[in-house]
Amino acid sequence: MNLHKLNALNIRNLIVNKKITTREVVEDIFRHIEITEPQVKAYLTLTREDALKQAETIDAKIQRGEKLGLLAGIPIAIKDNICTEGVRTTCASRILENFIPPYSAFVIGRIKEEDGIIIGKTNLDEFAMGSSCENSAFGVTHNPHDLSRVPGGSSGGSAAALASDMATLAIGSDTGGSVRQPASFCGIVGLKPTYGLVSRYGLIAFASSLDQIGPMAKTVSDTALLLQVIAGYDEQDSTSVKTDIPDYLAGIEREITGLRIGVPKEYLTEGVELEVREFVSQSIKVLEKIGAKVVEISLPHSEYGIATYYLVATSEASSNLARYDGVHYGYRATDYTDLINMYSKSRSDGFGTEVKRRVLLGTFALSSGYYDAYYLRALKVRRLIRQDFDNAFKDVDVLIGPTSPILPFKIGERIDDPLKMYLCDIFTVNVNLSGLPGISVPCGLSKERLPIGLQIVGRMFDERTILTVARALERDRA
Ligand code: GLN
Repeated sequence: MNLHKLNALNIRNLIVNKKITTREVVEDIFRHIEITEPQVKAYLTLTREDALKQAETIDAKIQRGEKLGLLAGIPIAIKDNICTEGVRTTCASRILENFIPPYSAFVIGRIKEEDGIIIGKTNLDEFAMGSSCENSAFGVTHNPHDLSRVPGGSSGGSAAALASDMATLAIGSDTGGSVRQPASFCGIVGLKPTYGLVSRYGLIAFASSLDQIGPMAKTVSDTALLLQVIAGYDEQDSTSVKTDIPDYLAGIEREITGLRIGVPKEYLTEGVELEVREFVSQSIKVLEKIGAKVVEISLPHSEYGIATYYLVATSEASSNLARYDGVHYGYRATDYTDLINMYSKSRSDGFGTEVKRRVLLGTFALSSGYYDAYYLRALKVRRLIRQDFDNAFKDVDVLIGPTSPILPFKIGERIDDPLKMYLCDIFTVNVNLSGLPGISVPCGLSKERLPIGLQIVGRMFDERTILTVARALERDRA
């Protein structure tokens, strides 16, 4: 049986009903990885031995008739900016090339408690900065739908692993779209939770006021399942919110009759590739046909999103990345004259071009004399962007638009033009700036058979509604 092709809920069912063993699941997926990984290059580290050991533990539990966790026997890939105790965690950066964390992230603990099986660490843009995986210090990941194209980023490794059946579930992180955009490019589902729903403890920080860990999967229900496991209060993260966690799977098949859907008029304009516009518009019609009420709304400040995001994110990054000084963590230059020279050489050798660009930009934006003109101004605009959403949600329950304005592009096509690359994030960054939940769900294939994703944005902590709308669309496409 090709177990790697099954979705998570199916695998769990088969295991719980003793139709298959966890060992079979793990062996099967690693056989498939051996064949597929050389072309796709989704992983930076594979943890086959650990996975087999975990499989043994779970199979023993089954033998003893013990109760199994929600993720029993499911192979899961983890983005390599999430700490895994004893397993190398690189952030796809030379500066952390040999970093072995002494502790695991909160989400890793939760996955293990629920009997999930971690099979490896996936590629990303260095420190999650990028939209194509091309900023990884360890090589680019290829889009399984067309190997000459990027898988999106920064969680491109996780998305590509899912799209090529080299993982059944995956974890990504999303600061300005890094779960949703690669999900869109690879034709899978990815959800960025409300800020504070999932603990950031053990997620290596990029921009702390924007970062969220999110679930990625082949189906909407599997996404809900993984969210169920990772959501919840954690005292180790001061921004973690104490809130009741609903049952995300229950009610996911609900009808959406009467639901009010807002389509921001700024989101389906000329700048969006024609095929993307067509498929998103078609999906909106589908939702209308099955009972939703569609209204056009406006988010007047959306055009300032990219500028605001790239000031806030780089400012926070410049501060967060100051810790890589050659002393505390990771790489240290060997040949230096004094302390300052050691800092400078370690950082110059250890960071890639994009990370350096952002540290410089952020340091500039925060420097005295420019702070008011850039950083402070960006915070004010951030508030206006949030207000746009608050106003919209007075009249509608969810917002819908494209996840990305463009189709997956060719490897090398945009890498020399940072501004062009930043513009890919036009529809995702405002959601992070506002702390809201958003999901990307596949809505079609272009003429060249490239996946197109649609984004659904919800009210704070209303992940249930966006999952239900995503499922309604998925059901219709089936
Ligand atoms: N592409 C965006 C950036 O480069 C988003 C990254 C992310 O969400 N981690 O910053």
